[in-house]
Amino acid sequence: MNVRDSEVICGLLQKAGYRICADDHNADIIIFNTCSVRKHAEDRVWSLIGSYKGSKIIGLVGCMAQNYRERAFQRDSSISFVVGPQDIHKLPDILNKFNVKSLLERKIWETDGTLRPEEIYHTDFFQDKNHAYVVISEGCSNFCSYCIVPYVRGALRHRKHKNILDEIRKAIDGGITKVTLLGQNVNAYQDGRVNFTKLLERVNGLSRLKEIDFFTSHPKDASIEFFKAIRDLDKLAKRLHLPLQSGSDRILKLMNRGYKVKDYLALIDSYRKIVKGGLLTTDIIVGFPTETIEEFKETYSLVKEAGFNAAYIFKYSTRPGTEAAKMIELKLEEVNKRHKKILDLQRCISKGLKSGGTDAKN
Ligand code: SF4
Repeated sequence: MNVRDSEVICGLLQKAGYRICADDHNADIIIFNTCSVRKHAEDRVWSLIGSYKGSKIIGLVGCMAQNYRERAFQRDSSISFVVGPQDIHKLPDILNKFNVKSLLERKIWETDGTLRPEEIYHTDFFQDKNHAYVVISEGCSNFCSYCIVPYVRGALRHRKHKNILDEIRKAIDGGITKVTLLGQNVNAYQDGRVNFTKLLERVNGLSRLKEIDFFTSHPKDASIEFFKAIRDLDKLAKRLHLPLQSGSDRILKLMNRGYKVKDYLALIDSYRKIVKGGLLTTDIIVGFPTETIEEFKETYSLVKEAGFNAAYIFKYSTRPGTEAAKMIELKLEEVNKRHKKILDLQRCISKGLKSGGTDAKN
């Protein structure tokens, strides 16, 4: 989502007469389009901003901007402007309003918007000449207890399917052959009668488009109809990323994920029966607050049983302001131990599956 937002920002600024620099040393203005999902990502941005030592005009944009707002200026006085993800369309105006000198002297923040204008998606700026990321929905209303996204990107909003198709048609005219449809939860897409499966069918019907992918799905909104679409639509990649997060029902409830382990297992069973040979990947959070060793073992066993082709395994990262931040955290040493254990297991499974081994799950 941030990659696409960065393209949108580049497109908007280019249209307004700014040039994108390949070398940051030559740039007058550096814009950090940021992620707040994990503390590590934020720490890296603070350290990078510090590395310019006030030598550039620095803009903090995206989720960290929304998260820190005015506090960003206190945290690093070299920041000149702070613009949240819903307000990125205002960037050309913000930069145009001031000449370079006064911008250095002024602090601006724009983090109050709730909606992005549709036009921002039509600047025709794609980093890759063949591949376009296409946003189908913005924000998220799921409020998983560990996640900052609903607070920084706002409630779930769906783009009109006609606008999405127009954007893709224009991208195809510009030479794009592959699209990745993006949303925090693509399965929840709905525009009138057009749900995600119907949208996939329409995108699949576009001539000269060769490949379609999407990111990411939520188990509570996945359906048999959706799996059949993956099987039947010829341009759609035969893979599914279905975040599990934990193999313990108690932890899933604390995470507010909206499904139980048995629901998840039934889903992946249906997926594999319907999409024969389809790839399956997942996300796991290790060391969620109060996770007992038995509950960790449940996750470990489920990962072993499911035989994912790959898994993104994260250590739990506290995000201030979320529900989970109020819970008692585990000791980092213990989290590290559990993380390594499950990482080693998944590496072994992935390796076994890649080499075509049948004993990958053993
Ligand atoms: S579905 Fe949950 S984890 Fe994903 S963006 Fe929404 S709140 Fe965050």
